[in-house]
Amino acid sequence: MENDEHIKWMKEAMKMAEEALAAGEVPVGCVFVRDERVIAGARNRTNELRNATRHAELEAIDFILANEELTPEPSKYPLSTTSLYVTVEPCIMCASALRQMGIKQVFYGCGNDRFGGCGSVLGVNKGVEHPVHPSYQATGGFCREEAILILRRFYITENTNAPVPRSKANRVLKTEIDPLTADEAS
Ligand SMILES: [Zn+2]
Repeated sequence: MENDEHIKWMKEAMKMAEEALAAGEVPVGCVFVRDERVIAGARNRTNELRNATRHAELEAIDFILANEELTPEPSKYPLSTTSLYVTVEPCIMCASALRQMGIKQVFYGCGNDRFGGCGSVLGVNKGVEHPVHPSYQATGGFCREEAILILRRFYITENTNAPVPRSKANRVLKTEIDPLTADEAS
C-alpha cells in the first residue's frame, strides 16, 4: 500500500486523538480499517470511565465485536482482515488483545517508552512466542511528530492545572522532536 494511504488513515486516528485531548484524556486515538474503509474509530476514555483498561484500541474492538454487520458471527480471529492505525504504539495490554483477535497488521505514530507492546518494552506482536495466536507486523513512524506534539499539549495543560504550578520554563511547549521515541507516551 502507498505511504499516502497509511497517512490518510493515520490522520483519521489523529482526529480521534484531538477528540481525546478536548475531553481531557491522554490524547491517543485510533481507527480500524477493513476493505479500504474505517469500520471503527475510538479514543482513550480512561478518565471519563475511571477505568484504566479503556484504551482507544479496546474501545474500538468492543464496538466492532458488538456490531452485527461488522461481526456477523463468532470467529476465532475476528480482525484477521482488519488493520489498525493508532497514534501511539499499542501498550502491552492492547498489543496482546490485538494478537488474540488476530489483527492483520498495525501502523502507529510514535513509540511508547513506558509500556509499548510492539517492541519498545516488549514485542508482544511477534517477538514473544505464542503457541497459538499468529504474530502480526507493527510499523511505527506515521504522523509521528503530530502524535508526540499532541501528547505534549496534554501534559503541559496537566502541569498548569497541578496544585503547585511548575515554573514557567517547564510550561513552554517543546517543539523539537527527539529522533527515536516519544518521552510522554502513556
Ligand atoms: Zn493500550
